[in-house]
Amino acid sequence: MRQTPVENLTEAEATEELTRLADELAAHDLHYHREDAPVISDADYDALKQRNSAVEARFPALVRDNSPSQRVGAAASEQFSAVEHGTPMLSLDNAFSDDEAREFDARVRRFLGLGDEAVAYTAEPKIDGLSASLRYEKGVLVRGATRGDGRVGEDVTENLRTLSEIPHRLKGSGWPDIIEVRGEVYLGHEDFAALNRSAAEAGQKLYANPRNAAAGSLRQIDPKITAQRPLRFFAYAWGLTSAPFAQGQAQALRALADWGFVTNPQTQSVVGAEGLLAAYSDFEGLRPKLKFDIDGVVYKVDRLDWQQRLGFVSRSPRWAVARKFPAQQARTVLEAIDLQVGRTGAVTPVGRLRPVTVGGVVVTNATLHNGDEIERKDLRIGDTVIVQRAGDVIPQIVGVVLEERSGNSLPYIFPSVCPCALATPLVRETTVSGAETVVRRCSGEMTCPFQRTEHLIHFVSRRAFDIEGLGEKQLQSLFEDGLVREPADIFLLEERDKTLLKKLKDREGMGETSARNLFEAINARRIISLERLIFSLGVRHVGEQTGRTLAKGYGTWDAFWTSVQAMASGDESAAAEMNAMDQIGPTVIETLTRYFAESHNRAAVERLVAQLTVLEAEKPKTDTAFAGKTIVFTGSLEKMTRDEAKAQAESLGAKVASSVSKKTDLVVAGPGAGSKLKTATDLGIQVMTEDEWLALVRD
Ligand SMILES: [Zn+2]
Repeated sequence: MRQTPVENLTEAEATEELTRLADELAAHDLHYHREDAPVISDADYDALKQRNSAVEARFPALVRDNSPSQRVGAAASEQFSAVEHGTPMLSLDNAFSDDEAREFDARVRRFLGLGDEAVAYTAEPKIDGLSASLRYEKGVLVRGATRGDGRVGEDVTENLRTLSEIPHRLKGSGWPDIIEVRGEVYLGHEDFAALNRSAAEAGQKLYANPRNAAAGSLRQIDPKITAQRPLRFFAYAWGLTSAPFAQGQAQALRALADWGFVTNPQTQSVVGAEGLLAAYSDFEGLRPKLKFDIDGVVYKVDRLDWQQRLGFVSRSPRWAVARKFPAQQARTVLEAIDLQVGRTGAVTPVGRLRPVTVGGVVVTNATLHNGDEIERKDLRIGDTVIVQRAGDVIPQIVGVVLEERSGNSLPYIFPSVCPCALATPLVRETTVSGAETVVRRCSGEMTCPFQRTEHLIHFVSRRAFDIEGLGEKQLQSLFEDGLVREPADIFLLEERDKTLLKKLKDREGMGETSARNLFEAINARRIISLERLIFSLGVRHVGEQTGRTLAKGYGTWDAFWTSVQAMASGDESAAAEMNAMDQIGPTVIETLTRYFAESHNRAAVERLVAQLTVLEAEKPKTDTAFAGKTIVFTGSLEKMTRDEAKAQAESLGAKVASSVSKKTDLVVAGPGAGSKLKTATDLGIQVMTEDEWLALVRD
């Protein structure tokens, strides 16, 4: 896009542009900070910010109250409670060239009136993660927060506690009674790659870079998930302290290390502008060898009394600056777009590139994320594209060089079928609430070669067919040998074994006995309940509970089968019948319809059911005193377990709820019943003891 040079802008144009930039930057801040998923590169973002500053510098009267130059990041999300930092978390000014680094040194000396005296600095690698503030009181970690908008962050104490590099208690001595230790939470390259690999396999959204992955991992509602992510932490600064503990930045870093923090071993102490430049080129050379991302160098005046005197301009300190590396980019040709199918059927487009060196690494592929992304960037096969590795392990395509596009190129059309031999249609994934996502998925399910093993593993799992002796490993090897390609094959194993040249018992790790045991375990499952069978098919959004509901609703396999086939052929009354069932909504109906509309799936299910005896489901009773009633069990039950009580009530056609409300019809209270019993009494709901309940039920 061509921009009017700032010096040619009229006041009206400047006003308009500042409004546009503020909106645009606010939107990007939200993507970056709150959703952990930026939609533009850092370099593009910085360019927008610089443009904003340049326009503001020429028209100071037009600076908006909520100008992007006054803000750091986005306000804290409501998922976490807000924490006000003892002292604000800083945002650093950027320097992009040697000249700007020299100017930083000159500014510092001018401000302090040092004349020719050289200034000592620390030069620290700028870790590309997310900053966090840890508050210690009497050496004990009491709170941990994200940066948020710099003043107020999010309380992620429990999540931060799961990081092994964050001490719960400070070591050594000399720490102030109260101190906010600050640093960067980050992920190493290998851990990042592993995380994205498993996300891809699970059909989940990939993280764009280690920084977003670190942010996404830290900002989990459930700290247990954070604990599984190999997050690391470098300490490099502090906020509020109840007492001074060092005289210089380098000395302070040593103190942090003594107290049990990891500090960056690459940090240098340098002198004067030439020292700053030398450190920068050292780090630039070091960058490809590090096991984590750095996106520049942070220069800080070492003496803390000088830092004090230098103070701040708006939100940035005068005594520090971030010297950013330029994004590593190169031009090449997008030669093809291939589709990769994950184990769950999620399809990811991958750009095949004419090999090109970017930042010392030869790049041949780039992730294109999803079809929407290709459309948004209008990527076409044969286009000259700009490839970037800016702190990203997986190279990205930044955009197309339009001047180089040939006149006859056509927009890319995302394939409508899976690259698997079945050529089954690709469908957009929906969430449980029914919203469409950007992920496309092969609808071949258990018959798609890419998804078969995943489906088989689900099929034999404990809550599905629960076949003893048929674990993931055996299944994988039977699959690779072509013995088990779909669920029906499992039940044909014994029969086929009789004609096999190399019998199952002669296979590695499987003797005569275990082969016989396996056949027995398989045969024991030829009789199966309807709810298990439905759940075992592995239809998306059809879990155990839904399987149970459907089984109760239809009663027999034949009724279910007739109905889903009718649905698949567009019979709306069949869909309406299913929709009338408790807790069955449009998402389940849609996925079931799609699943059974696929002829490969129907055939595979028919082959399977031919091997089975499917038990009838017990229909809910409608002729008992409890039919349709809502019952709550509370207190400790002495003659039966909670599960038993629940099953018993349900078998009589009642619903079992966990809390008492106006809709409750009956409360069965054992000893120790507390607030639920009180609520029931207050609401005038019938209450009985366990014995009274049992006496009634046995009638
Ligand atoms: Zn497929």
